[in-house]
Amino acid sequence: MRKEITFGEITVKPGEKKSGFAPVYASDFSIPLTVINGIQAGKTVVITSGIHGGEYPCIETAIELAQEIDPLTVSGQLIILHPVNIQAFQARMSYIVPEDGKNINRLFPGDKMGTISDRIAYTITTEYSDRADFYIDLHGGDIHESLPPYVYYPGIADEKVVAQSKAAAEVLNADFIVKSSATTGAYNSAAIRGIPSLLIELGGKGLWNLEEVIFYKNNITNLLRHLHLLKGPVQIPRQKAYEITKAEYIDASESGCWYPSVNLKDTVRKGQKIGQIKDVFGNTKEEIFAAYDAVILFITVSLAINANDPIITYGI
Ligand SMILES: [Zn+2]
Repeated sequence: MRKEITFGEITVKPGEKKSGFAPVYASDFSIPLTVINGIQAGKTVVITSGIHGGEYPCIETAIELAQEIDPLTVSGQLIILHPVNIQAFQARMSYIVPEDGKNINRLFPGDKMGTISDRIAYTITTEYSDRADFYIDLHGGDIHESLPPYVYYPGIADEKVVAQSKAAAEVLNADFIVKSSATTGAYNSAAIRGIPSLLIELGGKGLWNLEEVIFYKNNITNLLRHLHLLKGPVQIPRQKAYEITKAEYIDASESGCWYPSVNLKDTVRKGQKIGQIKDVFGNTKEEIFAAYDAVILFITVSLAINANDPIITYGI
């Protein structure tokens, strides 16, 4: 006999779906939430979107999936948070939560005694991802970022969790599959706690369009079939993604103006210049060179750059 389920104070009977706002622990904040309780037994899958509020294709994808998926076609439970960082979304702001200036995705598993971003991370960990059999975190390039479609799987976790995550990544249409060595992202933290997980990147530069959203939704639908939450054949990706086993994130050491000298998906040689930072008088402050032969995964495209902002991600 299937039971009713409760997430974020929303209780849903088998075969039903409800939406509302989920409270963030010990705060006045809440996160838009849809809880889909399938008619058949199965896994619990949690999807978060918009941990970064300016990543529009993933946010629209989550909104549409929450609306369109019929609980009568679901085996298990599908929980969708859309978007997590609604304050930044409404403020049309990248990266951070406006109230405390923190990037939620560097704070997991969170801290219930911290500021609002720490509490959002704590709430997602304890009330959502810890209760999942599989966790999917939807991202994309932020307002000032450009990237091709790619997927990260956690590289630091139990071997079985890493293998399950990678197998799920392989059903997605993506240019790259990247093994991550990070620990404080939402999906990394979930994996360390024993939950297989992925982070998917699609779109960027503060834009979105229907083609991207349809592509994103098809990818997620295929993934949900792979996880047996939805019925139907799992589609084989159009082409095999290029595998990256070591990704490096370069942060700016100076604030000023950023001039990349490479394009997305370029291959670079060790020692090749990949960009420079100048001051507002046009004087060069920093030149950045590739530390090894690699392929460019992500580029910040805004002219403005701040110290400690990511400027490029590349990998081998
Ligand atoms: Zn993001």
